[in-house]
Amino acid sequence: MYSTFLIKYGEIGIKGNNRHVFEDALAKQIMFALRRIPGEFSVRKERGRVYVNCSGDWDEGETIRTLQHVFGIVGICPVHEYPAGDYEALEKNMLEYVGTEYPDSHATFKVKAKRVNKEFPKPSMEIDADLGEAILEHFPGMRVDVHHPDILFDLEIRDRVYIYSEVLPGPGGMPVGTNGSAMLCLSGGIDSPVAGWMIAKRGVSIDAVYFHAPPYTSERAKEKVVDLAREVAAYAGPIRLYVVNFTDIQLAIYDTCPHEELTIIMRRYMMRIAEHFAKKNGNLGIVTGESIGQVASQTMQSLVTTNAVATMPVYRPLIGFDKSEIVDIAKKIGTYETSILPFEDCCTIFVAKHPVTKPLPEIIERSESKLKGTVEQLVETAIETAELIRVR
Ligand code: ATP
Ligand code: MG
Repeated sequence: MYSTFLIKYGEIGIKGNNRHVFEDALAKQIMFALRRIPGEFSVRKERGRVYVNCSGDWDEGETIRTLQHVFGIVGICPVHEYPAGDYEALEKNMLEYVGTEYPDSHATFKVKAKRVNKEFPKPSMEIDADLGEAILEHFPGMRVDVHHPDILFDLEIRDRVYIYSEVLPGPGGMPVGTNGSAMLCLSGGIDSPVAGWMIAKRGVSIDAVYFHAPPYTSERAKEKVVDLAREVAAYAGPIRLYVVNFTDIQLAIYDTCPHEELTIIMRRYMMRIAEHFAKKNGNLGIVTGESIGQVASQTMQSLVTTNAVATMPVYRPLIGFDKSEIVDIAKKIGTYETSILPFEDCCTIFVAKHPVTKPLPEIIERSESKLKGTVEQLVETAIETAELIRVR
């Protein structure tokens, strides 16, 4: 049984001098993720390679699943490690590897050696041919196919010898923490957790804000958002989740403004408060799960009107996605089942039958001006009483 994973990373390999920064971030994120599961782990970096060593009470499946949550990882290869030696030793290692992993296989194969340690006395091409022959001789079910082999035996000759033949997919992207941080507007829906996941995938760490409206929204609805934050955190690392009591602001809007404008005005106040926390946290942008035309508050005109109150960039990674495409990602990353739990969110209580679909900022501003004198204090109170939940 192996106890090491060779970690393949994609984009971060091409970052020139920044490579170390990226590798360090990757190592940190790997360690952070593995801290949650049983076993002892260490990460080793070695000339363009990252290895994870496992010992103690580790479980293969759980370790792989956990690594599949770490952005920056493209491939996870269970690898057998051997001390460096001469060619005879190498051949012994190779045969032992095949005997352990593919004892009675009927399959085609190819050997691909990489001689990083140039002092090794045989060139790579010869190693491929000679080891291929040795395998044929010892394993009668094996045949060579250099074009489309069932099994590709990769071996790397470094300070040690590494042999692997399986590359399990990682999530891709870049290690979280290499690209600043953003404030995610996280509701209990399907979209916003996916939006957060997509931004985190690009190396951005995430904080979040959730607006709830007790007693119109229940404690369960809030718990659902905390659960979603936790599911996103499995990829994105720790999340500071601000839970803002939005009830009084919503009631004030409801009492004062035209009902067909409720949602858009509400979204503008969400944006303002999200930006407040974003600035306080040093986040470099706001993230939402909006997608053009999905609902009345997400038409191009509505987005202009919502955006008008933001001074920070607002990132909408789902902007061009159909709902079915978003659902596919939600299922893949594991947030879907939580998202579809039937707890109302604050938007569904205060929605008008016929919301405006082409709001003009000037008109909306005029409606909002009726809130002047009361809303400032309500916003301040909402900010002051926000609950901070640290989700990991
Ligand atoms: P989602 O499925 O993520 O809830 P949605 O399809 O329900 O999105 P809207 O309710 O119009 O769409 O919200 C659009 C975006 O606004 C959400 O994706 C989210 O980023 C933000 N948002 C909406 N409601 C809330 C809330 N209660 N708290 C925080 N953010 C919210
Ligand atoms: Mg929603």
